[in-house]
Amino acid sequence: MTEVQNDDHIFHRTLKQQWQQISHGEGVYLFDTDGKRYLDACAGVHVVSIGHGVKEIADVMGKQASQVCFTYSRFLTQAQIDLAQKIDDMAPEGLSKVFFVSGGSEATESAMKMARKYHLETGNPKKYKVISRWQSWHGNTIGALSMSGRTSWRDDYVPYLLDFPHIPAPYCYRCPYGQEYPDCHLTCANELERVIHQEGSEYISAFIAEPILGTSAAGVAPPPDYYPTIREICDRHDILMITDEVVTGFGRTGVNFAIEHWDVVPDIMTTGKGLSSGYTPIAATIAHEKVYDAIYKKSSSFTHGHTYGGNPLSCATALAVQNYIEKHDLVTQCARMGDLMLEKLKPLQESPIVGNIRGKGLLIGIEFVADKEKGTPFDVSKGVTSAVVDLTFDKGVLIMPGAPGLIDGVAGDHIAISPPFTINESQVLETVDALTETIDEVAKGLG
Ligand code: PLP
Repeated sequence: MTEVQNDDHIFHRTLKQQWQQISHGEGVYLFDTDGKRYLDACAGVHVVSIGHGVKEIADVMGKQASQVCFTYSRFLTQAQIDLAQKIDDMAPEGLSKVFFVSGGSEATESAMKMARKYHLETGNPKKYKVISRWQSWHGNTIGALSMSGRTSWRDDYVPYLLDFPHIPAPYCYRCPYGQEYPDCHLTCANELERVIHQEGSEYISAFIAEPILGTSAAGVAPPPDYYPTIREICDRHDILMITDEVVTGFGRTGVNFAIEHWDVVPDIMTTGKGLSSGYTPIAATIAHEKVYDAIYKKSSSFTHGHTYGGNPLSCATALAVQNYIEKHDLVTQCARMGDLMLEKLKPLQESPIVGNIRGKGLLIGIEFVADKEKGTPFDVSKGVTSAVVDLTFDKGVLIMPGAPGLIDGVAGDHIAISPPFTINESQVLETVDALTETIDEVAKGLG
C-alpha cells in the first residue's frame, strides 16, 4: 500500500495517521490509487446515503454548474424552492420553513440563534441558554461546540465556550444513575426539569439533543417515553425543543427523521450530512411554523446567514439526491438492511469483548467491554477501538471509531457502522464477516 508522500501543504487534523490517496468511488465501494477496494461501511462520516459515483447526480451538478452556480440573496432558484418544498413534505407536521446553510455546525448555530430570536420576539429577552447532553456532538464552531458534550473535543477550547448546562445522555446500557428502565421512571429525562429549575427557566431558550446518538456512541436510542417526557417539560417552561438530525436525518435510521420513532414534533430540526449524500456541502435548519411565524409577524427579520447558504449548485444536487432516494425507495431499503445487519451481528454478542450491539436503520453501534457481566470498560491504553478500526480497514472495510474509552467521562470503546442505504445483502455479509474476524483477532490479542 503506497502512502501519500507529498502532503506538506495540508494542515492535517492529526499527524498520527498515515494517509492513502483515494482514486474514485462506485456504489458502496471506494478505491485507492493502488487499486485497493474498501467497502465504505461508514458512508464517509455517516454521509453518503445513495452511494458513490451516481451518474445522474453528477449530470444534474454539471447542468446546474453550467447554468448558474452562485447568486446573492435577492434571488431564489427553482431548485432552492423545490428542495424546501421537498423537505417540508418529508418533515414532521408543522416543520415547514427551511433555512439553508453549508454544514451541520452552521445548522446547529443557526438553530441556537433562531431560538434566541423567537424568545426576543415573544417578549422573553432573558432566555438565551441552551441545555444539551453530555456525549452529544453538535459541531466544531464555538456555539455548536458549547452545546456539544464530547469532552475530548471540547477540552482545548473551554475558555472560549459559552457556559451552557449539560445533562446526562439517556444511555440505558450505562445508566449514569445506575438504574434500570422502567423502574428508573426516566430519571435522565427528569434531570432536564431539575436543571431548568436550578438555572432559572427564564434564562433557558432551548434544549438540543441528537434523537439517536451518532458520533460519540453510535446507535444509542432512549426508551419510548423519553422524548414525549422531554417535549412536555420543554412546553411547560416555554423552552424550544431542537433535535439535531445532522446524522440521523434523511432516512439514516429507517424513517425520514429519527424523532419520528418517538412520534414527537420538535420546534427546530437541524440536518446536514445525508441531505446531499456528500455530493456537495449543504445543510438545513428546519423551523416549525410557530417559530417562523413569531419572527415573521414581528420584526420579519432573522439577522443571520452564511455566504454559501442555499447556493444553486448545492440545492440542485440535494434535490436530485432526495428524488433519487424516493425513486429507489431507499429509506425502506435502509430499514431492511439495518434489520438484516443487526440480525447478522447477533452472534457477535457471544464474543468475550462485545458488551452491547444497538442501532436503528443503518446507524449501528458496537461497544466493547473487558468484563461482560459487569460491563467494565477496557483501559483506554489498550486502544481497543483503534485496533478494531485499523484491522477492519486492513480487511478493506471502513468503520468509524466512537468516543474513545474513559476520555469522554464515559466508560466504553465503541465503533459505528453506517453504510450507504444502497448496500445489498451480500455486502452486509461482507461487512459482518470482516468485523467478526477482526473482533475475534482483537479478543485473542487481549488474551
Ligand atoms: N451534529 C451532529 C449530530 C454531527 O454528528 C455533526 C458532525 O459530525 C455535526 C452536527 C456538525 O456537522 P459538520 O461537521 O458538518 O459541521
